[in-house]
Amino acid sequence: MPKIVLTADRSLMSEYNKHVFLGFAACAPRFIPGWLYTKIFCPPVKEENGRVKYGHCGQRKIEASLLNNGFSEKDVAVVRPDKLDRVVDNKTKVLCITTHDPLGLGPASTTFSDLGGRETFTSLYFRKLITDPIIKKYNLKVIVGGSGAWQLTDERIMAKLGIDCVVVGEGEITAVNIIEKALNGAQIPFIIQGEVVPLEQIPVIRNPTLNGIIEICRGCGRGCRFCNPTMLSFRCQPIDKIMEEARLNVDAGNGVLFHAEDVLRYNAKGFVPNEIAVLKLFSDVKKLTDNIGISHFAHASVASKPSLVEKLSELMDVGSKKCPFLSGQVGIETGSPRMVAKYMKGKAKPFKPEEWSEMVIESHKILRDNHWVPCNTLIVGLPGEKPDDVRKTIDLIEDLSEYKSLIVPLYFVPIGNLQGNGFFKTKYATSEHWQLLATCINHDFKWIYTLAEENLPTVDMSSWKIWLIKKVIRYMNKRLYPYVKLMEEGINPMTYELT
Ligand code: SF4
Repeated sequence: MPKIVLTADRSLMSEYNKHVFLGFAACAPRFIPGWLYTKIFCPPVKEENGRVKYGHCGQRKIEASLLNNGFSEKDVAVVRPDKLDRVVDNKTKVLCITTHDPLGLGPASTTFSDLGGRETFTSLYFRKLITDPIIKKYNLKVIVGGSGAWQLTDERIMAKLGIDCVVVGEGEITAVNIIEKALNGAQIPFIIQGEVVPLEQIPVIRNPTLNGIIEICRGCGRGCRFCNPTMLSFRCQPIDKIMEEARLNVDAGNGVLFHAEDVLRYNAKGFVPNEIAVLKLFSDVKKLTDNIGISHFAHASVASKPSLVEKLSELMDVGSKKCPFLSGQVGIETGSPRMVAKYMKGKAKPFKPEEWSEMVIESHKILRDNHWVPCNTLIVGLPGEKPDDVRKTIDLIEDLSEYKSLIVPLYFVPIGNLQGNGFFKTKYATSEHWQLLATCINHDFKWIYTLAEENLPTVDMSSWKIWLIKKVIRYMNKRLYPYVKLMEEGINPMTYELT
C-alpha cells in the first residue's frame, strides 16, 4: 500500500462530462440534491486498481516530483476521495489534498452562495473529505495545497479541521520537502509559502490528467493588484515537454486542453503574442489530436494580434459542425478606465487603461468573426468603486450584447495586494450593482440557450442529461424574470416577496 496518498474533494475529481467549464456548477449554491448534481454535472473520474485514471493537473505535477525524487510508483497513489478506504492502510503516512475552493470563499462561490443563500458544493465536499474517519484511524499527516490553500491559512481553522500543514503557492519543491519530512517524523511548519519552481525543475507529468489539461505557462506577470502574487513569475514550458504530456494524454484517450493564464501569450517576450510560437504549438499538437481546447486568454492579446485568432480558427476548423466554437475564460473585470488604471494597468497592455472598453469591444468583434465565445468575468465591488464606475461597466456590457458570449459577475475577494480589504457582499450592493447584475443575467440568458444547443451535442453526455440541462436553463430564466425586472430598476429583489 502507498506511503503517500494524493487526493482532492469530489468537485475536483471529475471530468465534468469532458467539459471543464461545467465545473463552475460546483460553485453554485446547493439548490439541487447532491446525488442529482453529481449525476448530471460531476460524475466521478474513472479509476483502475484504486488509482484514478485521470488526475488533477496539480496533483500530477506533485506525483511526478515525488517520482523524480526517489519515490516509486508503489509509494505514491492518486486516489478518489470516496475510495480512500480501499488504498489507505497502516503503511500510509501522508495524505496530500489538492484544493481549489475548500471553504467556498473563492469569487464564484462567494457570489453565488451569498446571492443564493446556501452553501456551495465545493465547501460541502471539502468538509466531507477532511472529516473522513480514515484520517484519524491511521493518524495520517494532512498536507493541503493547491490554488485554494490561501483559504486555510489560519491556524485555528487548521486545528479545527485537523490539517498539519498548508502549502501556499507552488508545490513541486516545497511540498515534496514537507512530505519527506513528514514521512521521517520530523517537525513540519503549519503554513509555508511554496518556493517558485525554476522552469527546468517543473516536471513532466507521468500519468494523464483530467480533460487532458496541460500547463503550458505558469504565472502571468501582468500584476493585477487583486490577483494572487504567485502569478508574478511568468514561465513557458518548452514545446518538447508539452508534446510529451500531450502524447501521454492522447494515448490515454484524452484530447488536450492548454492551461495558461493567457494561452495566446505562449512564449511571448512582452505583451503582444508571439504568433509563430503559438501557431507552432497548436499545429504540433494537432498532429496528435483534433480535440484541442484552451483554459484562459486575454482580450488585450486578441486585440493586439487579430491575425493569430484568425489563423488558429483556420487551423482548427473552428466554426465547423465538429467544432462549432472555441471558448475560454477571460477577464473583463470592469468598464471603468479609473478602476483599470488603479488595479489592472498590466492587464490592458499593450493598450492604455483609457482604451480598455474600446479594446474589449474590438476583441469581441474579432472573436465573433472567428467563432470564439468568450466566457467573461467581472469583479463587482472593487475597493473604492463608485456608482459612476459601475455605470461605465453597465455601458460596456450593453455594448457587448450583440456578441455571443457569457458574462459572469463575481464579487470582489480580498487576495493579493488587496488582502486587507473586506469581501464584497450582497448587503453592500447599490442600485447600480443590481442594474449591473440584471444586465449580465439578461446578456447570459440571451446567449446561453443557443450555446447549449450548439455545444451540448458535441459533449460526452447522454441525451437525457442534455434535455434536462436545457430544461433547467428555461426554468431558471422564467423563475428569475420577475427578480430581474426589479433589479433593472436598481431594486434589491431580496427585499420583495414575489409569488
Ligand atoms: S491578468 Fe489575470 S492572471 Fe494575470 S495578474 Fe491579472 S488577474 Fe492575475
